[in-house]
Amino acid sequence: MNEPISESVDVVIIGAGFSGLYSIWKLRDQLGLSVRAFEAGDGVGGTWYWNRYPGARCDVESYGYSFSFDPELEQEWVWTERFPPQREIEAYLNHVADRYDLRRDLELETRVTAATFDEETARWTVETDTNKTVNARFLVTAVGCLSKPKDIDIEGVDSFEGPTYRTYEWPKEEVDFSGMRVAVFGTGSTGIQAIPEIGKKAAHLTVFQRTANYNVPARNHVLTPEEIAEWKSNYREYRQAAAVSGAGVPLPDPKPSALAAPKEERDAAYQYGWDTGHIPTILFSYADMLASKEANETAAQFIRDQIATIVEDPETAQMLTPTDHAYGTKRPPQGDDYYETFNRENVRLVDLRKTPVERITPSGVDTIDESFEFDAIVFATGFDAMVGALNAIDIRGRDGALLRDVWRDGPESYLGISVAGFPNMFTITGPGSPSVFSNMVVSIEQHVDWIGDCIAFLGDRGASGIEATVAAQDEWVQHVREITEGTLHTEAESWYSGSNVPGKPRVFMPYIGGVGAYRIKCDEVAAGGYEGFELI
Ligand code: NAP
Repeated sequence: MNEPISESVDVVIIGAGFSGLYSIWKLRDQLGLSVRAFEAGDGVGGTWYWNRYPGARCDVESYGYSFSFDPELEQEWVWTERFPPQREIEAYLNHVADRYDLRRDLELETRVTAATFDEETARWTVETDTNKTVNARFLVTAVGCLSKPKDIDIEGVDSFEGPTYRTYEWPKEEVDFSGMRVAVFGTGSTGIQAIPEIGKKAAHLTVFQRTANYNVPARNHVLTPEEIAEWKSNYREYRQAAAVSGAGVPLPDPKPSALAAPKEERDAAYQYGWDTGHIPTILFSYADMLASKEANETAAQFIRDQIATIVEDPETAQMLTPTDHAYGTKRPPQGDDYYETFNRENVRLVDLRKTPVERITPSGVDTIDESFEFDAIVFATGFDAMVGALNAIDIRGRDGALLRDVWRDGPESYLGISVAGFPNMFTITGPGSPSVFSNMVVSIEQHVDWIGDCIAFLGDRGASGIEATVAAQDEWVQHVREITEGTLHTEAESWYSGSNVPGKPRVFMPYIGGVGAYRIKCDEVAAGGYEGFELI
């Protein structure tokens, strides 16, 4: 352990994305606590700092994907597009950091390497890669759910002599692909956004696809002054509705069953979603969409039909058509011009299921039946989701237990916010909470507000800390499992359940019971004197 203690504070916060920034404001400015936040990047933004690849944007509408804690902030800030591009979200988070003077308690370019709980003092000792050692009563992890990229498991990846780019660590300066032969690996949400942009610039683009995906167009556009005024005049009502909704976005209640609905009604609902870019209209139109294969198939087939209409070459259309998983069981992507890109003369699709990659070579890629030459390779191959960033830190709780060992068989937590054996640690949007199944900003604010209330409660009681009980944690883990069982999610290969990372335990990690129901549960726990927790 580094010596000596450089600083002693009430709270250490790890990360300066949406969750870290809001935590600084809430805990420092609302509760009067001393805080120290650390961020590995040289700027704020978290996900929106790192993922600056071409086409990067959020698929929650801009006015909904923003902080609600200050009505003045939401009235001041102007989002220019329906779905916000990365650079605008990054600018927004920089504005928030400046407007609330958050940088004064934030150290950039500083990675937390270890955090150890001391049972005698009930305090955490936090170490960084800059040789700082900070002592804190509370540890708040604001590390993001999709912030640790997964290793690229393709042979020869380091042998390529041209530039390689990872979407997660995209350079700050513009990458000019003009005149270049470019390869892209990955057709998840990231690849689907990057491919149309790269296809427009590159001399030639080859997309290596392992699993065909169901993309729905975003129908992004520049917002008109009237649309902006409409959002701002209804903002408070919108926030209230988002807070109690299923996914952190207000939506009409789903109809009971896609199978019971007449085909014309169903197709009209899907067509509306397709034409307007309201992706939830398709996914959440019927209550049995993720419960019944047959119901799901109605929406899946609708999307397949759109692919067949858009993509001119029948063989390419067939390769792009997903048949091996139900719609929505992998995180559904949303982006404009994806399927249309494969009509370009300079774009080619290679199906890795038919012709797997043998290796990456110094000059390109060898599949089992062809050698490709490239000037640059882009990897959009995904993340060690939900636990990767936490497991990368040596977090030690009671008896020196290491969190990643405790989670060897998959993460277990109470409410996704607290782990038995790790007192005074709060995991914002941790596994077992709605997190990636919701508008992240809504879930982040709910968690941070709950943490603030909890710390205030401890202050009132004169308690030095709080810890989830094993019994409450077991019950919650069981509940999270039960509501997932019987859904189509249990059958899919997806990062939701860790199956994208070789060797990762297969556990479905998010809570799918809905943001509103989850909020009620968390509020009940608090109102009951923090049921399921012990004060220490
Ligand atoms: P992802 O969904 O995990 O997709 C990774 C892609 O890479 C998949 O197509 C995967 O194929 C492929 N792949 C992985 N390893 C490969 C290999 N060795 N060879 C060939 N292909 C390989 O990751 P992502 O696209 O970065 O998205 C992650 C999540 O970030 C999203 O699901 C979403 O939650 C979030 N995100 C959101 C937005 C947004 O708001 N619009 C944008 C981007 C990302 P398989 O499917 O066969 O594994």
